[in-house]
Amino acid sequence: MLDKVVIANRGEIALRILRACHALGIRTVAVHSTVDRNLKHVAMADESVCIGPAPSSESYLNMASIIAAAEVTDAQAIHPGYGFLSENADFAERVEQSGFIFIGPRAETIRLMGDKVEAIRAMKDAGVPCVPGSGGPLGDDNAANIKIAREIGYPIIVKAAGGGGGRGMRVVHTEAHLNAAIQTTKSEAKAAFGNDMVYMEKFLENPRHVEIQVLADGQGSAIHLGERDCSMQRRHQKVVEEAPAPGITREQRAEIGKVCVEACIRIGYRGAGTFEFLYENGRFYFIEMNTRIQVEHPVTELVTGIDLVREQLMIAAGRKLSIQQSDIVLEGHAIECRINAEDPETFMPCPGLIQHFHAPGGPGVRVDSHIYEGYRVPPNYDSMIGKLIVHGPDRDTAIARMRVALSEMVVDGIKTNIPLQQRILSDAGFQQGGMNIHYLEKRLKEQKEKTISIV
Ligand code: ADP
Repeated sequence: MLDKVVIANRGEIALRILRACHALGIRTVAVHSTVDRNLKHVAMADESVCIGPAPSSESYLNMASIIAAAEVTDAQAIHPGYGFLSENADFAERVEQSGFIFIGPRAETIRLMGDKVEAIRAMKDAGVPCVPGSGGPLGDDNAANIKIAREIGYPIIVKAAGGGGGRGMRVVHTEAHLNAAIQTTKSEAKAAFGNDMVYMEKFLENPRHVEIQVLADGQGSAIHLGERDCSMQRRHQKVVEEAPAPGITREQRAEIGKVCVEACIRIGYRGAGTFEFLYENGRFYFIEMNTRIQVEHPVTELVTGIDLVREQLMIAAGRKLSIQQSDIVLEGHAIECRINAEDPETFMPCPGLIQHFHAPGGPGVRVDSHIYEGYRVPPNYDSMIGKLIVHGPDRDTAIARMRVALSEMVVDGIKTNIPLQQRILSDAGFQQGGMNIHYLEKRLKEQKEKTISIV
């Protein structure tokens, strides 16, 4: 087993990784910025190292500082969590070149999946269903691009090969707007990602977001752990996630899961990963692969009983997968609500001092959060302050448990999105299940208009 791990992240995921390490008897090193000295996991870690000032560019994104922290503490491995350097191939490479284990896939796999054009090409070759598209980068020949778009059929979406975080995309409905859209997306992509390569895809109008969790040991074995539905989104950011996805049959799950597993084996994937799909009219369309642990991993843990972070650590230690596909049996239903320090109406971040905190409890309730009474949420990072996750024998029970848990949860001193989550959980469409990725924004818009008309 590993002996000592550096946790190169902050907040709830740092705490989650620390717990998995300690449960395996692995010692931990917390690395933190100057404003993060009071993080819960820093107090609980065996050792801690300050890696720089508040701006993440100088701390959590500072490769040299993080690797130096591993050196001075004589650690063996580095867990990147999600966000920050978790999908940075250069970081993975530098970690391994410095003699440490990067807890994730090989650098070349991260690099492949980070280039969307290459990723789609590799996935297509591996038999994964993709969105009909240009199949490669777009050139400067306008006539050729028009031809490609006609073949795909409007509306189409122009996307940056190096894009991420929902940026670098433009929907085009008519031929007259095609060339301008390609040029604008190119220059935006160049400025934002340093890479002006763009490609074209069919724009699916009412898809759901359904993703498949995989685990692979990089030694020839891979399994899938079913799917998650993350269609409740605002500005391409997931707000509520659940497993399994409403309406997906056992046969569909087995079929798409098998395709993902085969792709993993083919590319020599190692670690935990997620295949993200758009799902429309009963069909899956691959959009991208995340080569790391995801925020919403707990819903999969609750329905499968598998500790995904533990498995990441075991794989990194060189162990073969001890779980077989036949061991994966989905039980009941799990829902996760992301809890953000933000205004529930305007969505403006709301950092500050937490004066009072009460965590909900009861059967099937899990709280993954680093906050505590007297903790000050800094303004420098993502506004997520935790995740409330529930499990029940069926979806209705999970919804009922989530509603009770949200009503019990108290975070005083700062504004949170708990009232928004309560509205979502009591919404008829959400309760019915299977809503598409535009549903939440549509409902928010309707409610806003209603409020304005009442005023
Ligand atoms: P990112 O890496 O920026 O998250 P993705 O390729 O995962 O980019 O796309 C982000 C979101 O954009 C998707 O969840 C979906 O809402 C929308 N999207 C992307 N491609 C398409 C498409 N072909 N049709 C419809 N919506 C799309």
